[in-house]
Amino acid sequence: MLALALALNPDLKPVPLGDIVPNQQVYNKHKDNYRKHRNTFRSDPRASPELQAWRNLDNDYDYQLLNPGGKAFVHASLVGKDSGGPKPWAKADTYFSEYAEHYPRDLILSESDRSYIIGNKASYDCRQYPHAPKDKRPEGQGYCHTLVIPKDRVYNAVDPLATRDHCSVLEELRDHFCKFWSEMKNREAMLARAHAALKERESALIDKGPRPTEYTDAVNKAVFLKFQRMISVFKQLKAEEDFIFGFHVFPDNTIGHLHMHVFPHDNSFREYSTKIYDHKTVPLQAILDVEDEDQRPKSSSSASSSAEPQSTQDESSNGFQAVNQST
Ligand SMILES: [Zn+2]
Repeated sequence: MLALALALNPDLKPVPLGDIVPNQQVYNKHKDNYRKHRNTFRSDPRASPELQAWRNLDNDYDYQLLNPGGKAFVHASLVGKDSGGPKPWAKADTYFSEYAEHYPRDLILSESDRSYIIGNKASYDCRQYPHAPKDKRPEGQGYCHTLVIPKDRVYNAVDPLATRDHCSVLEELRDHFCKFWSEMKNREAMLARAHAALKERESALIDKGPRPTEYTDAVNKAVFLKFQRMISVFKQLKAEEDFIFGFHVFPDNTIGHLHMHVFPHDNSFREYSTKIYDHKTVPLQAILDVEDEDQRPKSSSSASSSAEPQSTQDESSNGFQAVNQST
């Protein structure tokens, strides 16, 4: 709806979302980045056959584009090993594909026909990762960082499946979260999941942490104190206004399966979380706006970004043809 409102009234500005969208200029940059990466991906001749093989769970295919450096799929050493769920890892699996078959059921916070809401397995508090390098942070991007993933194999926001039928997959991820958030018991489940991740990290630090026990104890105490302090404010947040729905667009993705990052954007919820990925965290609305702009005839386009809008979707084909013709 916001995309439509913005299209009808270009003066209507999107709500600033903390460091990820502090102003219109940064918002436009996110749009340009998405458009550029989408066009580059879809015009790559390897994209269509690789996506097709991946969707067919083809473990013999040599994935060059989708799995650069072997990093977007499960690590080679895990193939054939127990995943924690009913099905062992296979070569063409990513950490999020067929989620329910690879993880214990209790990691799923909610399930709809088309998607899952899952907690982040990592702690969101950087103090629990004292030795992680500055440029590769393992912690989440905000308090109770959660993910929403499609059940089907959709690779990334640049995958034509993600934007097919007016971005119905992307809209589903957001709608699922908003519906989930509308019930207080679900907010509590989200808190419980984040608390479990903090606890897991606490144990890891105690077991093999490099620091003296007193230091580790003090850190963990502070982590849980901050967690407790934020609970009541967190429970009052509004899904549509107070959360970031963000995507790491290919090639800035780490996992080769579409996942929407969800976390509160207010800085009070991000004090000890990483912000190094903010520049590549593209808000859902930016993607919806680009798709909306590029679908409209050029003459009536009110695109505010510098990239040339172009048609990218051909409903009768697989979504590649139009891009290949125009680039
Ligand atoms: Zn991501």
